[in-house]
Amino acid sequence: MFNNKRFKYGAVYVVGVIFIVLLLNTLIMNATSEQISYNTFVDMLKEKKIEKVIIQKDRIVITPKEADGQRKKTMYTGNMKDPSIAALLQESGAQYNTDMPETNPIMDFVLYWIAPVIIFIFLGRLVLGIMDRRAGGGVMSFGKNTAKLYAENKTGKTFEDVAGQEEAKESLVEIVDFLHNPGKYTEIGAKLPKGALLIGPPGTGKTLLAKAVAGEAKVPFFSLSGSDFVEMFVGMGAARVRDLFRQAEDKAPCIIFIDEIDAIGKSRDTNPSTNDEREQTLNQLLSEMDGFDSSKGVVILAATNRPEILDKALLRPGRFDRTVIVDRPDLKGRGAILKVHSRDVKMVDAVNLSEIAKSTAGAVGADLANIVNEAALRAVKNNRRMVEQEDLEDAVEMIMAGKEKKDRILSPKEKRIVAFHEAGHALISALLENTAPVHKITIVPRTMGALGYTMQLPAEEKYLVSREEMFDQITVLLGGRAAEEIEFNLVSTGAANDIEKATESARSMVSIYGMTDRFDMMALESVRNRYLDGSAVLNCSETTAAAIDDETLSIIKESHNKAKKLLLDNRELLKSIAEALIEKETLIGEEFMSMVESGRLRTKSPAYDAQIGENLS
Ligand code: ADP
Ligand code: MG
Ligand code: ZN
Repeated sequence: MFNNKRFKYGAVYVVGVIFIVLLLNTLIMNATSEQISYNTFVDMLKEKKIEKVIIQKDRIVITPKEADGQRKKTMYTGNMKDPSIAALLQESGAQYNTDMPETNPIMDFVLYWIAPVIIFIFLGRLVLGIMDRRAGGGVMSFGKNTAKLYAENKTGKTFEDVAGQEEAKESLVEIVDFLHNPGKYTEIGAKLPKGALLIGPPGTGKTLLAKAVAGEAKVPFFSLSGSDFVEMFVGMGAARVRDLFRQAEDKAPCIIFIDEIDAIGKSRDTNPSTNDEREQTLNQLLSEMDGFDSSKGVVILAATNRPEILDKALLRPGRFDRTVIVDRPDLKGRGAILKVHSRDVKMVDAVNLSEIAKSTAGAVGADLANIVNEAALRAVKNNRRMVEQEDLEDAVEMIMAGKEKKDRILSPKEKRIVAFHEAGHALISALLENTAPVHKITIVPRTMGALGYTMQLPAEEKYLVSREEMFDQITVLLGGRAAEEIEFNLVSTGAANDIEKATESARSMVSIYGMTDRFDMMALESVRNRYLDGSAVLNCSETTAAAIDDETLSIIKESHNKAKKLLLDNRELLKSIAEALIEKETLIGEEFMSMVESGRLRTKSPAYDAQIGENLS
């Protein structure tokens, strides 16, 4: 089979040369020759100004006599096939002749027979090549190109670059060892897993891990995204899969990595609107995975964040028979990831990365990488050569709440409302037992819409949340609105986000966590895609759904009332915190806590106050 690419360049080259020759030809003709009219020619003949005439098939080329030392420029005119011209020519004394080039039979043959054939073959192939590509018939060469594009000999990543995913790494170390010396395993008769599926939320390092496996094993890495297989034309994706495996087998040992495999691996029967192309691609993938011989050292890794929609056939033993969970990192993991990413960033010795790790619960690797980078950018912006703790803290806030919006000026009235709102959240959190300590309160507006926020930091990472804790969290969320009501007797739009979060929590207390007496431990909702937004689907009757709403509402009402009561009982304290916020705009945790402590002493134990009074007097 001819090489399509080289041929295409050849064809372009030939056409180009022909074009240039033609162009030069006409240019030279025009520069040295001038067209004249037929009667001018006859006049010139009569005046005997012509030295030589060559009569060609369709034109007459005229060489005039040299006049006053002027450069001789040939002229031409159309051949009128005028029978009287011979007499005139004879009379004028010019040399004349018809154009009779020396004939060369071989040249003629080449020119008239071979050259057109060659040109037609070239043109034909060029056109065919284009049509092939359009119709999808040319996938062999076309698909190959894409796969080649993604084959990397060195990924440049190692397990060192992946932090906080120790369990995942452990499962993959075995695969690396297998790629290093497959003989060790085949000798004893062991069959190694053909593939491993990396499952986890976006940004946790699935792609990174796959690259690290290839880097550790020092083998080529074929990487394609699931969507690369889904082509416009039916059959393209399947051809591409075939092609990928052929190439991988040639290069074994190697790793094939299919990122976002859910794009092709979607369960075939859940979707009523069948997608033929995807189905064919999936079938091809399944049969390739069955067909190839894993002892050659080809390992397939795939990544997804929607494992629940994958076709069960993909997950059966002999295909992706290993699943590696790459979940959100815990406190220790976040610390380790921060460390990896600050390897090449100059930081002062005093930075405390574990403090940052603490304040980033729920963040994934990609977020943490981003935080370190934002901190470095901030240091540069402030003309510093090293990153300081403050930069990191600011970066965390920026990633979580958006940039500070310095130009948004709130009216004094609005500023007061925001201050009371935030003070309400913070104070409730301080007054309740099962809540995380307040780390910071601020009323500087942020680009992501918040006019202020209260940041709570858990003392330690929690994996279990009790009913009381959930209830208290909801109360804290509703405390913002409660403060507005108490102080201004007003409700504003500022609580929208709090309401949304509180309702979500209350609802899951009822329907997922079995925390109400009414529904006891009945599962009423199931979480669908737990690695993405964690959205849930109801699986109960409509009457039950209405009852769930009732229960949710009663939890919210109870929390709301509790929040209002707590704030009313501590109204003076609420006021003093809000005033402090209005003045300073930001309160850090310690400042806030000392205000709460002294306020409590004043309000809660009048006896104690009296005692001090006595002592003083
Ligand atoms: P995923 O494929 O899971 O969506 P990626 O592997 O593409 O996530 O991660 C994106 C980036 O985030 C990586 O390039 C890396 O810089 C950073 N990152 C994510 N997880 C980790 C981790 N566990 N350790 C170090 N860096 C990480
Ligand atoms: Mg990825
Ligand atoms: Zn709020």
